[in-house]
Amino acid sequence: MVVGSGPNGLVAAVTLARAGWDVTVLEAASTPGGGTRSEELTLPGFVHDVCSAIHPLALGSPAFRDLNAGESPLSGYGLEGAHPDGQVAHPLDGGRAALVYRSLDATASALGADADAYRRLFGPFVDAGFDLTDGLLAPLRIPPKHPFDLARYGAVGIRSARGVARRRFDTDEAQALFAGLAGHSIMSLRSPVTAGYGVMLGVLAHVVGWPVARGGSQRIADALVAMLEDLGGRVECDHRVQSLRELPDVDAVLLDVTPRQVIALAGDALPARYRRSLERFRYGPGVCKLDWALDGPIPWTNTAITGAATVHLGGTLDEIVAAEDDVQHGRHPDRPYVLLAQQSLVDPSRAPEGGHTAWAYCHVPNGSTIDMTRQIESQVERFAPGFGDRIIGRHAMNTSAMERHDENYVGGDITGGVADLRQFVMRPTLGLHPWTTPLDGVYLCSSSTPPGGGVHGMCGLHAAREVLRRHP
Ligand SMILES: Cc1cc2nc3c(=O)[nH]c(=O)nc-3n(C[C@H](O)[C@H](O)[C@H](O)COP(=O)(O)OP(=O)(O)OC[C@H]3O[C@@H](n4cnc5c(N)ncnc54)[C@H](O)[C@@H]3O)c2cc1C
Repeated sequence: MVVGSGPNGLVAAVTLARAGWDVTVLEAASTPGGGTRSEELTLPGFVHDVCSAIHPLALGSPAFRDLNAGESPLSGYGLEGAHPDGQVAHPLDGGRAALVYRSLDATASALGADADAYRRLFGPFVDAGFDLTDGLLAPLRIPPKHPFDLARYGAVGIRSARGVARRRFDTDEAQALFAGLAGHSIMSLRSPVTAGYGVMLGVLAHVVGWPVARGGSQRIADALVAMLEDLGGRVECDHRVQSLRELPDVDAVLLDVTPRQVIALAGDALPARYRRSLERFRYGPGVCKLDWALDGPIPWTNTAITGAATVHLGGTLDEIVAAEDDVQHGRHPDRPYVLLAQQSLVDPSRAPEGGHTAWAYCHVPNGSTIDMTRQIESQVERFAPGFGDRIIGRHAMNTSAMERHDENYVGGDITGGVADLRQFVMRPTLGLHPWTTPLDGVYLCSSSTPPGGGVHGMCGLHAAREVLRRHP
């Protein structure tokens, strides 16, 4: 039995069903998918990704690669990526912009004075490809499978994004590009390991690309559910589990929920020591998110940005560092770092003819109730004057709306807990098998376990493997 049908819950369910288990997924919401759901949030015919939109992690993850191989791959259940020409764009004032393309050389060449520095930083990691990214998504292993690649990555990745950007690059473009990539960590870019996020996401842009799911992120969930059903499993929606006691006697229960919910579900059954360590688990900042229906594409000053599905807004390295510092200190930045996706440019099925969709969010303090519409839209307008005139529909979600949509987003935290160095190794507790719990037959499979947030399904895969290891 799996509680929660996020990508991790569904990957766990499919993995067990493939191994011959009879699997039921119980989902509180009325549609499956957790963070991979799409809805017509603004106007009829405009399909918006409520949470995740951009899927380099899904494409790069061994879990999804495995499910997409073999005789009945996920693609056979209607899952297809829509790939942009430019993977990520980062505009700067004055019409300047940096872009990451699939080609390392094309990306580097466009960075002028930083071309060689970009090649030197990313080249060896891109050459390592899946040897590196699979290693980063794998359970802790001593010795690791590709020690040389991981050691090389660790030497850079352990550092702060700000430090690496300043030391490696001279131009505003390359520094800002790296800050934008690392900003996905939702931490201060002065913090250790934030460079690791920048490198990992940059490498994935070259190795697999940053696609959107054709038809909406919901297709990821729908394909996983269809595969599960073909394997004899089922998802029961509108079924919120209040306590583990209400579940039938089964061999294994996998919880696609975060530590705070584990405490609520397990009640007094949890040993005090484990309960205390779950109580110490820290949630990170939240997000404020906007979706727009537009009557035309976003009018970027630099027209090259139209070729990218993902755009990082926030200006220079120093501006993004300051914005993320504000959030860490409980403040709402006036010029936030904004992550924007323009899905309909690569996937016209997202909007009626002539129309377009866009999705954006910025980081805010955990539990914030402030509506950041003005600040987010000002950042878009800064690099695309006239954007406001294109808006024909708007939908905003603050942190409470986010948590109402998916209760795993505690206080608006979308990564299942802070992903700093400490919670990289203690996720949610210290140990070589963090997917297990002291409760017999109860496992954790959410992004609050390694390797953490994002749509990669690896937390679910690792948890399911723990189950299979204990029930050979
Ligand atoms: C605005 C936003 C943008 C994002 N952008 C991206 C992106 O572009 N790319 C990317 O890779 N990731 C992105 N993410 C992160 C990604 O969505 C999550 O990391 C991912 O969905 C986590 O998967 P999960 O299975 O661990 O949990 P979730 O997807 O959160 O699923 C948990 C499920 O459990 C259910 N549940 C919880 N409690 C119970 C209960 N008691 N009983 C029954 N069901 C329960 C919930 O309803 C939910 O369906 C984004 C998230 C947000 C919110």
